[in-house]
Amino acid sequence: MIITDIQATTLKGFKQWNYVRVLTDDGLIGLGEAHPGRGVVEFALRQLKPLLVGEDPRNIEPLYTRMLRPAGNRAGVALAAIAGVESALWDLRGKELGVPICDLLGGMYRERIRLYADVGHGKDKTDTPESWAARAREGVGDGYQAIKFDIDNSANELSQDAVNRELSTAEIEKMTALVAAAREAIGPGVDLCIDCHALYSVHSAIRLAKRFEAFNLMFLEDPVSNDNVEAMAKVTSSTSIPICTGEFIYRRDGFRELIQRQACDMLHVDVSATGGILEAKKIADLADLYTIPFAAHNITSPIGMTATAHVCAAVRNFFIMELPYHEHQTPWRWQLATAPEPLIQDNVFVVPRRPGLGVELNEEVARAHVAPGYGYFGETK
Ligand SMILES: [Mg+2]
Repeated sequence: MIITDIQATTLKGFKQWNYVRVLTDDGLIGLGEAHPGRGVVEFALRQLKPLLVGEDPRNIEPLYTRMLRPAGNRAGVALAAIAGVESALWDLRGKELGVPICDLLGGMYRERIRLYADVGHGKDKTDTPESWAARAREGVGDGYQAIKFDIDNSANELSQDAVNRELSTAEIEKMTALVAAAREAIGPGVDLCIDCHALYSVHSAIRLAKRFEAFNLMFLEDPVSNDNVEAMAKVTSSTSIPICTGEFIYRRDGFRELIQRQACDMLHVDVSATGGILEAKKIADLADLYTIPFAAHNITSPIGMTATAHVCAAVRNFFIMELPYHEHQTPWRWQLATAPEPLIQDNVFVVPRRPGLGVELNEEVARAHVAPGYGYFGETK
């Protein structure tokens, strides 16, 4: 079997959702979703396609290694495109062998993947104790037993300086009141997570974490930037709240020191950004050597989410996967994936037991949402 073509398209969803297809001489087609964003599809077609056409698609890891070889390919847009291709190669291999991707990764520890609902800010994107309580009730009312809020930018009107990473006492007081309101609204038995998006200084992050310790958080995410492992380690060792990071980190190389120094308590890996299915599996396995749990960041459509779910099924230390709950504003999201059974059942993601990814793009829905300036998998508009 050889690769005959690479095709790609972009949809205008909650994010700019990118898809790659790998075509072969025996008619099998692999589908993968690349990390969202601009330029990803163009990179796949211009830079990756010439490396792949004529090659045997069954050599997934060797082809991944080949795509990574140019130094500029190991992060960002390039790595997003590579991860989309890699995922499509796994879909293809699974279809050829008639087995789900997770079986090729070693088999399933679990087929039901626990989700947390990422609710963003308070109701109507406002930040008051009342709006946070209302939004928390919405997530729990929909059946989710774990929810996550973004604390960053929730008290900007009280900031003394927009860029110096310091939190004023007034900001900390307001943020504490928001989290208190959310905890009060959901009661003690629902898991609550807070994301800081890497905005704060070590000192401010520790002050904030100390106040949040009263609310029994499941994790506090990216309290400081992951660019400095020592800074992350200092925050982690300064609070009883589990510190979580990873969505901005690329490949095993990026995670190695963080894991080996146990500079965080749990990982939050984005399969579609960090290099793809096998790279994420290897990151999870490295973390498992240190008994660090593996959570999955996710801002893709249900196609990429399914690829992530196969990884989550196949790693021992899986903890929880993100559901972008605020994507309720993209009402066609779940119609985009064709699967015989609903992917979400009873608020968990159920890994399809079908060859490859186990889902396909619904062509009619996808065609209706192709981003301006793009064609559907290479068709000229
Ligand atoms: Mg995050």
